[in-house]
Amino acid sequence: MASSSTTSRSTSASTARSDALIEHARTVTPGGVNSPVRAFRAVGGTPRFIASAQGPWLTDVDGNRYVDLICSWGPMILGHRHPDVLAAVTAAADKGFSFGTPSENEVALATEIVGRIEPVEQVRLVSSGTEATMSALRLARGATGRSKVVKFAGCYHGHVDALLASAGSGLATFALPDSAGVPASSAGETIVLPYNDVAAVEAAFAEHGDEIACVITEASPGNMGVVPPAPGFTQALRRITREHGALLISDEVMTGFRCSAAGWFGLEGVVPDLFTFGKVMGGGFPAAAFGGRADLMAQLSPDGPVYQAGTLSGNPVATAAGLATLQACTPEVYSHLDQVAHTIADAAHDALSAAGVAHTIQWAGSMFSVFFREGEVRSYDDAQAQDTAAFGRFFNSMLDQGVHLPPSAFEAWFVSASHDDEAVEAVLAALPAAARAASGSEGTL
Ligand SMILES: *Cc1c(COP(=O)(O)O)cnc(C)c1O
Repeated sequence: MASSSTTSRSTSASTARSDALIEHARTVTPGGVNSPVRAFRAVGGTPRFIASAQGPWLTDVDGNRYVDLICSWGPMILGHRHPDVLAAVTAAADKGFSFGTPSENEVALATEIVGRIEPVEQVRLVSSGTEATMSALRLARGATGRSKVVKFAGCYHGHVDALLASAGSGLATFALPDSAGVPASSAGETIVLPYNDVAAVEAAFAEHGDEIACVITEASPGNMGVVPPAPGFTQALRRITREHGALLISDEVMTGFRCSAAGWFGLEGVVPDLFTFGKVMGGGFPAAAFGGRADLMAQLSPDGPVYQAGTLSGNPVATAAGLATLQACTPEVYSHLDQVAHTIADAAHDALSAAGVAHTIQWAGSMFSVFFREGEVRSYDDAQAQDTAAFGRFFNSMLDQGVHLPPSAFEAWFVSASHDDEAVEAVLAALPAAARAASGSEGTL
């Protein structure tokens, strides 16, 4: 890795085993992957099959090593195989994998979450962020007796039917406006508005106010790249939903326990009716949650009429991983994330500037992304107006030099507590050549 070569695509790293695996995988799994962005369609080349990981490093099946800037798309906030988490998982697994009864770990994880985020009085644990938003939506509809949902273009809330409209992330990557298989009746209940546009929200509520169950928004969007709410935007959502008797759902699946110990809420302080969490709180295992005021949560089965359940919900091994991860997320961890993120972002800015590549870097706490365009990005339209081909050249040069970025121009770059000087130096060393590759001044791939 980290070869000192100045041209992209020039290292001798073999990808023979990854090549063979993806070819075979395509025969048994659609596209060879279990989540579309992993297929590298937006950047080209062979997806690397990772065999193992330690701290900030990934090792692929051909023995190549990469600095990990995906961090499993957020969950690995402590880095891979953190000793405390590994010990907690091993101890939990040693006692049994799943009981289908209540168990102590799930109470401990719920208590930790409730203790961190003041307006969250109760949580229900689920197994994925998608399940969390789907369930929060059902609860909002059940509690209000209304059916329409407002979401924002470029916000991704998992692959929930009603929320797969202008949904950023993998869909932005593939430039699909929508998904096949979502019935018009389902999408028809969804009102999609431009992000950061208060007037559009006012207008939608003026027309449909008494039919809207909820507004769901990413607390600070990270699935069209990082596009924080403009000052006052979240406050306006709170005011407008309250005026019309609708609920506000803040999706903190990505930002929760990452932007700060109390997520984006910890930075901005606007109190929604419901929160959704995932990613970091599972510590790399399938655990997610939705929660909020006790009176609202009381609407859920078995106390209330809104049904929701899960065979593996509150799984003892997953909750042990999540609890150990949250407990290890100390103030020192958050300041380290901040420092590492700024070091990498500053160096990326310098390298891209030196190579004459148009770019903008945006932040949400220590979460950041690089847009390959000039000027502030406030909406999905803005985010889409970037040079994705330049990003593809940049990505592949970084990969060849041993740095694994998320394979999409519409994603945050994730760092962890384990990114030490060696890992950061490896990223900094790779940036200048990657920036030149992005500029196209070193020929085409
Ligand atoms: C990742 C994500 C989801 C979906 O979570 P999954 O665990 O992938 O189902 C939902 N909302 C946001 C904001 C996310 O970033």
